[in-house]
Amino acid sequence: MKKSYDALIVGGGHNGLVCAAYLAARGWSVRILERRSLVGGAAVTEEFHPGFRNSTASYTVSLLHPKVIRDLRLSEHGLRVVERPYSNFLPLGDADYLKVGGGLAATQSEVARFSKRDAGRLPRYYAMLESVAAVLKDLLLETPPNVGGGIRDLFQALKVGKRFKALDMSVRRDVLDLFAKSAGDLLDQWFESDPIKACFGFDSVVGNFASPYMAGSGYVLLHHVFGEVNGKPGIWGHAIGGMGAITAAMAREAARRGVEITTDAAVASVLLRDAEAGSEATGVVLEDGREIHAKTVVSNLNPKLLFQTLVDPARLPDDFRRRIDAYKCASGTFRMNLALSELPRFACLPTQGNLPAPHHSSGIIMAPSLRYMEQAYFDARSSGWSKQPIVEMLIPSTVDDTLAPPGRHVASLFCQHVMPDLPGGRSWDEAREQVAEVMIDTVDGYAPNFKASVMARQIHTPLDLERKFGMVGGDIFHGALSLDQLFSARPVLGYGDYRTPIRRLYQCGSGTHPGGGVTGIPGHNAAREILRDGRG
Ligand SMILES: Cc1cc2nc3c(=O)[nH]c(=O)nc-3n(C[C@H](O)[C@H](O)[C@H](O)COP(=O)(O)OP(=O)(O)OC[C@H]3O[C@@H](n4cnc5c(N)ncnc54)[C@H](O)[C@@H]3O)c2cc1C
Repeated sequence: MKKSYDALIVGGGHNGLVCAAYLAARGWSVRILERRSLVGGAAVTEEFHPGFRNSTASYTVSLLHPKVIRDLRLSEHGLRVVERPYSNFLPLGDADYLKVGGGLAATQSEVARFSKRDAGRLPRYYAMLESVAAVLKDLLLETPPNVGGGIRDLFQALKVGKRFKALDMSVRRDVLDLFAKSAGDLLDQWFESDPIKACFGFDSVVGNFASPYMAGSGYVLLHHVFGEVNGKPGIWGHAIGGMGAITAAMAREAARRGVEITTDAAVASVLLRDAEAGSEATGVVLEDGREIHAKTVVSNLNPKLLFQTLVDPARLPDDFRRRIDAYKCASGTFRMNLALSELPRFACLPTQGNLPAPHHSSGIIMAPSLRYMEQAYFDARSSGWSKQPIVEMLIPSTVDDTLAPPGRHVASLFCQHVMPDLPGGRSWDEAREQVAEVMIDTVDGYAPNFKASVMARQIHTPLDLERKFGMVGGDIFHGALSLDQLFSARPVLGYGDYRTPIRRLYQCGSGTHPGGGVTGIPGHNAAREILRDGRG
């Protein structure tokens, strides 16, 4: 008799691990099937050049929910997250820079060099952001009410509405601003100087192939500030050992709870049978032809990947299939990992020798204004990428000596605004090296020793992100964070509650509420809904 599981999780990304751990805690027999040779999905640490390791996709922590950290005992499993000395450093040509973070007073005195008025407005801006983020935080662990659902969904909708009604009118207006406006319009209302607007506005284009002046970018900005590091809200930090340290800790806890984790196990299709009310999932078929049976199947994959490749389309309602086909996946992201022989020396803030200064350990944003970011988007739309791209660089080896040999460093380049599908049918495989040069030259323009310091490079074009990590269209969030694809509408209105049109088939990945980022929240919420439905 072949073993049948209570639940199979397709994909061992961080959300799959979290979901599995919560199910196993309630006594379910659970098996994770992961296509790659390691679990973690887009939250992994890999050696990309002999002796040099880095977080090869996602690279910085803030959104990981404290409840998930606690429930999965991640600290007991060795997870340690350190704060950056400064949140951000923006070199502004050869002569000037802006440092943000290190306390309000420090940031205010930096910003005052550009505008005293902006410096004076900072406390109110931060307070506004915090109060709107609190509204979002309240919704994170909720299952969105399902439009067209039953009485439970109605109560859920009332609960959400009641919370909104309890807010002060000015907070309600701020919520509307951040959810509906462009980040550019919002920031222009608050501030007058370009550098501070660029610093805050950068969050609105991360993983969002859009101009910061496009409606909806305000929400993407908000999505990047709902997190915390070690209890300090809104900041980003570094996991010692890289992002893989998070998922290794999750995998340890899942295994401790009895979850079977199988790597090199690509799922080819979901097994379905006819049931009273349509189709029902009964297990999966692996690419090597093996069948594995379970009472419940949970997908950690991008919804497009699940419904376009693993589920027989004839089993899906026409309208649902059409909506999944139209589900927008395209974040315009280009990601590089570099082995460096020495630290970059920025012309605007010279350092001696190879010892890290605080700005080396911050998020280094090379995009001096919102207009620059907008132009990068326009360029990418017309010709595939911009010659003046948006680059954020992190050098995690300045705070973590487990990543590179002594005296050497690793850098993550997170570059925004390349076209997911290049114009003229050109392949990313052809353009990869040329675009990598543009990114390195961009950094070199600010730190003239940079290019010569690059010993090795790993390049992830949007196509590589899709092939290697399963990020459809290179979309880092498993689907754009646009208003039509959020909350009850993620991924499709009527299926915002982690369930699908197929009985006993659920979703637990970033294509469900509250979307992408290393949060653990979709996995947490999906497990709650699956447990609510019972073992079946
Ligand atoms: C380049 C990049 C940079 C990012 N930077 C950050 C950041 O700094 N901070 C942050 O918080 N977020 C960041 N993100 C977003 C975040 O990493 C993702 O939203 C999140 O990791 C997705 O987690 P997940 O568990 O939902 O899915 P995934 O991590 O995508 O996991 C899905 C898993 O399913 C597996 N799989 C796919 N197909 C199959 C199959 N047929 N059979 C079996 N297994 C399969 C995949 O291999 C993968 O392991 C970034 C993402 C990328 C790509």
